[in-house]
Parts: sequence; C-alpha cells; structure tokens
Amino acid sequence: MALMQSKSKILIAGGGIAGLATALTLHRLGLKSITVLEQANSLRLTGACLTIWDNGWRALDAMGVGDTLRREHTQLQRIDTLSTTSGLTKCIDLQHHEMRLVQRKKLLVALAQALPSNTIRFGLKISAIHQRQDRSSIVTLEDGTQISPKVIIGCDGVNSTVAKWLGFGPPNLAGRSVFQGLGNFPQGHHFQPKTLEIWGNGITAAFGPCNETDVFWYLSRKSLSSDAEISYNSTILQEKARHLAEDLGNKEMVEVIKRSTPNSLSLTSMKYRYLWPFIAGKAQKGNVTVVGDAMHPMTPELGQGGALALEDSVTLGKCLAEVDLEKPAEIEAALKKYVEHRKGRAFEIGVQSSVSGILQSGSWWLPKLIRDKVVFNRLSPKMLHHTGYDCGPLQILS
Ligand SMILES: Cc1cc2nc3c(=O)[nH]c(=O)nc-3n(C[C@H](O)[C@H](O)[C@H](O)COP(=O)(O)OP(=O)(O)OC[C@H]3O[C@@H](n4cnc5c(N)ncnc54)[C@H](O)[C@@H]3O)c2cc1C
Repeated sequence: MALMQSKSKILIAGGGIAGLATALTLHRLGLKSITVLEQANSLRLTGACLTIWDNGWRALDAMGVGDTLRREHTQLQRIDTLSTTSGLTKCIDLQHHEMRLVQRKKLLVALAQALPSNTIRFGLKISAIHQRQDRSSIVTLEDGTQISPKVIIGCDGVNSTVAKWLGFGPPNLAGRSVFQGLGNFPQGHHFQPKTLEIWGNGITAAFGPCNETDVFWYLSRKSLSSDAEISYNSTILQEKARHLAEDLGNKEMVEVIKRSTPNSLSLTSMKYRYLWPFIAGKAQKGNVTVVGDAMHPMTPELGQGGALALEDSVTLGKCLAEVDLEKPAEIEAALKKYVEHRKGRAFEIGVQSSVSGILQSGSWWLPKLIRDKVVFNRLSPKMLHHTGYDCGPLQILS
C-alpha cells in the first residue's frame, strides 16, 4: 500500500452538512490546505428540509452564507399545534425567533459554493484509521490509498467510521421512523408562514412552507419491519404517508403529500447516541476528532441535529485557528478544547430530543396523558430557550 504524503493538512471525512460547514469555517479563518473526502460521486442533494432556528442562523452567518439562504426561504411566524387525541390546539408566536424550513440541497449547495474549487473530492471513502507511535494518524481509503494529514475530522454521519475508531458504539434505534417530503406548487401555494404540528395517537406530523412554491411535511410513527424494503420506492412512500395523513384527518396535508417531488421523499429510522459526560472524552484521540452526527446522532424532534453540526464547526474552527498546525501537541490541545466546549450542549439537546419524541408520539397511555394534560398547557416560546445559543462570530483575516 502506498503512503500518499497528502498536501492537505486538514482532512475532513464526509461532505454532508458538518463536513462542508467545517471546511468553510476553517477556510474563512484563513487556514489552508483543507480537503473534504466524500464517498458519494456528487453532493447528496436528495431529501427534504431542515428546520433551522436562531442558533443555526447565527452559525450560518458566521460562515457567511446566512443571507443567501434567507433569500431562498420564508421566515415562519407561528407554530400551531393540534392534539387529535384531546382536540386541544395551541399557537406559539415566533416573533422573537428566526425559524425557516431550509431545503437540504440549498444548504449543501450554499456551503459548497463558498469553498475554493477542488476542496471536495468525490468518490473517496475512508475505510480505516491507524495511529502511529508518535500519536499521528494514517487514514486508509477504500482503494488502499493511505494519507497522513496533520488533522483528521470525521464528519461521516450517523454510522461514522471515525467515531467507531475513536471507540464509540453504534447508534441506538429509537423505534420510530420518519417519512419526509417536499410538496411542489409551481403556481404558488396558499399556506400562511407557519407550521401546523399534529400530535396523534402514535403518530406525529407537521407541514409548513419553505418558500413560495415548496411545502415541507413529515410524519413519524413506530418503525415497522417492512420499512427498509419500502424506503427506496418513492411511490410506496408517498402512498403510505398519504394514508397516515388521511388517518389524521388533515386534507391540506394530504394534498401537500400528493404533490411531493420523488427525490424529496424519504423514510428514515431515527437513531441516537447520547454523548454521556463520561464517554465524551472519546470524541478526540491524538489528531482525530468528530463533528455533527458522527459525534452526537440524535432524534429529530427538536429540529437541532443539523444546527448542532453547524455550531460544532464554528467552535472547532476557532479552536484550530489558534494553534500552529506544525505542532502535534497544540493540535491535540485544540481538539480537546473543542470537545470540552461541545459535550454539555450535545448531551443536553440529545436527551431533550428523545424525551420530546416520546411525549409527542403519544404511543403509550402515560406519555399521552402527560402530553395532553401537562405539556400541551405549557407549550410556549420559553420551550425554545435552547435556540438562544450563540457560537459567536469568526475573526476573519483580511
Ligand atoms: C428525519 C430527520 C429529520 C431531521 N430534521 C432536522 C431538522 O429539522 N433540523 C436540524 O437541524 N436537523 C435535523 N435533522 C438532523 C440532520 O439531518 C443531521 O444532524 C445532519 O444531516 C448531520 O449532518 P452530518 O454532516 O453530520 O451527517 P450527514 O448529513 O449524514 O453527512 C455525512 C456525509 O459523510 C459521507 N460519508 C459517510 N461515511 C463516509 C466515509 N467512510 N468516507 C467518506 N464519506 C463518508 C456521507 O456520504 C455523507 O455525505 C434531521 C434528521 C433526520 C434523520
């Protein structure tokens, strides 16, 4: 096997949200020779939307792409929630918040376009990492090529090879799966700038506009053994989701689902792994660390997984920009500092997301009772305090 003496000082595994955001942050901070290795042959532009809240926008602004994405996505004014089991409704006013449903492909394209050309190398999969006696690490690609950069950042998602090498176990299955899609209204839709969340009996659903022509929707329910089989068939996904929306009795949602574009449709099994304080230290070893889902996969009920990846990127960038990349001890200290900054937040949001999921889905009598008798009455903007997090701006070198 040839050891390729890569010119890249910083190697990022994975070109999803975390990988591109980390590369862009480092680039804006003036760091040179950054390479993103993505296993797919192009940006993965399938999928629907991410809810991005205030904390995510602050990170996107730090990266310089916030306004581009604002222009393409409607700011939402309210969240209406309806419990079909109790018949109760509640409205949360978002006047003090910035919340938009951001199309995943537009987010990836905005991040990728802001990077110098040739930063992302497609069709290259990391298959292993080895640590040498001097604590530097070698990355092996699937084709046998070996690379020895100064820093290795695993942004390779929920089933991360890098996280596994660092000693993390596989993510846990939450037992629920989410259908998602994007309804397209080429002549414009009539929906107000708000989301409607529906809490049913074992089913949670929501929909709301991303922009003037596209409306995002999702439906979550208990996972079924047939899910893996149907998840590649957009016609079946659409039909199953439509039936669930019909069961919830919402005709507008049924219409949005009918108008879904095939490549926006997905069915995903929810996975999580809590970054317990006593295992968080695993997120760094020598010159290797992880960002985004590779570090803290979480269920999507708080709509924060992607935003946390953006916050991670900004924090990691700031830690690395302070040190001399020719000095391994300084790199190691910077990565330790990054993990120390992020571990509490990732743990807290991961646990909150799971609890929210159990309560919202209302599939057992006790969570359903708590949901309809306690949580519903307390729904208020105060529950959004976690969106107040500010990862801070970047000191851009002129
Ligand atoms: C149903 C659902 C709804 C969600 N809703 C929201 C929401 O509303 N708001 C929000 O903020 N977040 C949300 N999230 C979470 C968000 O999607 C993730 O947190 C985010 O995509 C994580 O980005 P990532 O870059 O860490 O991982 P990914 O997006 O999974 O990217 C990982 C990349 O690494 C590549 N890769 C993997 N292995 C290798 C390898 N060995 N070598 C090279 N490349 C590799 C993959 O091809 C991929 O491109 C949701 C998640 C789900 C499942």
